Amino acid sequence: MADTDQQATFSFQAEVKQLLHLMVHSLYSNKEIFLRELISNASDANDKLRFEAIANPELFEDQPELKITVTLDRDAQTLTVSDNGIGMTRDDVIEQLGTIAHSGTAEFLGRLSGEAKHDSQLIGQFGVGFYSAFIVAEEVEVSSRRAGLPETDGVRWSSKGEGEYSVEAITKAGRGTDVKLKLKSAETEFLEKYTVNALIHKYSDHIAFPVHLIDGEDSGDEQPVNRAKALWTRPRSEIEDEEYVEFYKHIAHDFADPLVWSHNRVEGKREYTSLLYIPSTPPFDLWNRESPKGVKLYVQRVFISDEATQFLPLYLRFVRGIVDSSDLSLNISRELLQQDPNVAAIKNALTKRMLDLLEKLAKDDAEKYAQFWAAFGTVLKEGIVEDPANREKIAGLLRFTSTFSKASEADRSLSDYIGEESHSGDKIYYLTAESPAAARNSPHLESLRDRGVEVLLMTERIDEWVMQHLTEYQGKSFRDVSRGELDLESDSKEASVQVEPSKDEKQLLKKIKRSLRDRIDTVRISDRLRESAACLVFKENEMGFQMRELLKQAGHEAPEDAPSLEINPDHPLIVRLESESDDETFDLLAKVVLEQATLIEGQPLDDPAAFVKNVNHLILGDSGEASA
Ligand code: ADP
Ligand code: MG
Repeated sequence: MADTDQQATFSFQAEVKQLLHLMVHSLYSNKEIFLRELISNASDANDKLRFEAIANPELFEDQPELKITVTLDRDAQTLTVSDNGIGMTRDDVIEQLGTIAHSGTAEFLGRLSGEAKHDSQLIGQFGVGFYSAFIVAEEVEVSSRRAGLPETDGVRWSSKGEGEYSVEAITKAGRGTDVKLKLKSAETEFLEKYTVNALIHKYSDHIAFPVHLIDGEDSGDEQPVNRAKALWTRPRSEIEDEEYVEFYKHIAHDFADPLVWSHNRVEGKREYTSLLYIPSTPPFDLWNRESPKGVKLYVQRVFISDEATQFLPLYLRFVRGIVDSSDLSLNISRELLQQDPNVAAIKNALTKRMLDLLEKLAKDDAEKYAQFWAAFGTVLKEGIVEDPANREKIAGLLRFTSTFSKASEADRSLSDYIGEESHSGDKIYYLTAESPAAARNSPHLESLRDRGVEVLLMTERIDEWVMQHLTEYQGKSFRDVSRGELDLESDSKEASVQVEPSKDEKQLLKKIKRSLRDRIDTVRISDRLRESAACLVFKENEMGFQMRELLKQAGHEAPEDAPSLEINPDHPLIVRLESESDDETFDLLAKVVLEQATLIEGQPLDDPAAFVKNVNHLILGDSGEASA
């Protein structure tokens, strides 16, 4: 690092180097998006200045009109995007342009495949941003001065995008930032006024600031190229779908098109406009419940906050968009925002609007809804717990894989379930399991399958937790098929007349309980089983395996109560057990039955080595003992 007061050279963070390289290669076929990204940053910078100037109007200096300028210089082969927004200090520049602050960077890089199409999509989800300039530039020079600082406190950052960048102090008269690209010799099309004009139209019509195009040979243009009107302030009927899509890409930093959107102006007691989008692919920080960033707040067109989390519940954190309110104060602080009754009312209305939008999508376009469900279904499920007022509505939006599903797709809704001629009576049967395979092959399903009863198969970590809060849907109650006694409706063909165990069976149950003692609660003859020998059953009000695991992972104590063992007296293994006269062998067999039932649940054994040894002994007889 050659450090003088004037100039210093730094290395990029290792991830930046890797990302730069990948970006240039995988985004080459979309190279013109660099202009969208740079104008988008300029617009953000102007937004930020306008916000800070609410409290500190001197920041406007003598230039209250915020704008963006694109300057072409054919002799120097440069294209420059300038703004008179907030600007950057030397520290800002090093921090913002030399590192990637995304928390998921390492994970992101790990998921790259080296295949251009796949990677460009991933990079798109990650956020292309400032570095896209290097797709077309051999060198990028950023000159900036933070609003409010003296002219001599300017800074210049420059890099060839190869691993290093340098930073020096400069004097800059105007506040804000100039991003100057020295174009590669193959990219001189971006010096053509006509081409650049068309791109600005395409990418910036929705931006609220005027974008001027200056061609070095003209005397400078008076008229802005774009409409310079915030998209959401225009009437819906005048806005093309492409404009909505472009605006989405600007605010969401997404490369992919959104699935659907909803644009509404509310007038009357409260006045606000919302434009909200459902993305098609999950963003990188979807699972970061701490810092959801989705909705931007504007008050009377002035950008206020990027993290307007107050306007939607956490389970809709995948929604992107803007809310522009006329009722809130420009000076409102984050804390006050939380208490403002206007905010609560807007939140309720927007939540309902989004749920309605999803309902409509499900009805109109099953394919898109399936895409939505695959991307965000797990997040939406949280709403069952989080939002009791909308529980029924959210439940209607859920999709499940069930024993009636085609392949293993989540293609069944609760209405499908209820509408189906199945023998479920007034119940909705479901099963939570460790994995889709464990669910499909679960012994708990055997008799239900015989009776033609549909069972929802739930295999996500949060399912058991969710189902504790979802007890009813349209008057039908949910019933976990792995808990308690399965009192199947008597209208089912094979009415479940609980046969009193015979004397021999009672004897057998007693013996098994004696062998297994505390490892099980009770042992009984099962009404569930057809092909399997045994299964584990918790009581209806007890926690299942999944919840216990969740609690343990969160550092809480999980209940230790043991499940009951249900056996199928017709199964050869149980017949064999019953005929065993040797006490020691009976013991071994009983343990093996219990441990098999545990494995079928997808649960680990406390002592797997003992299980293997016992099984070997039973297979090989006495000779197994010697070699075990
Ligand atoms: P993003 O816009 O998603 O934050 P970018 O890669 O586009 O990511 O930009 C990185 C950061 O660099 C921005 O968050 C901002 O802090 C800073 N930045 C980029 N361009 C400008 C600009 N014209 N004025 C002020 N800051 C800028
Ligand atoms: Mg950006």
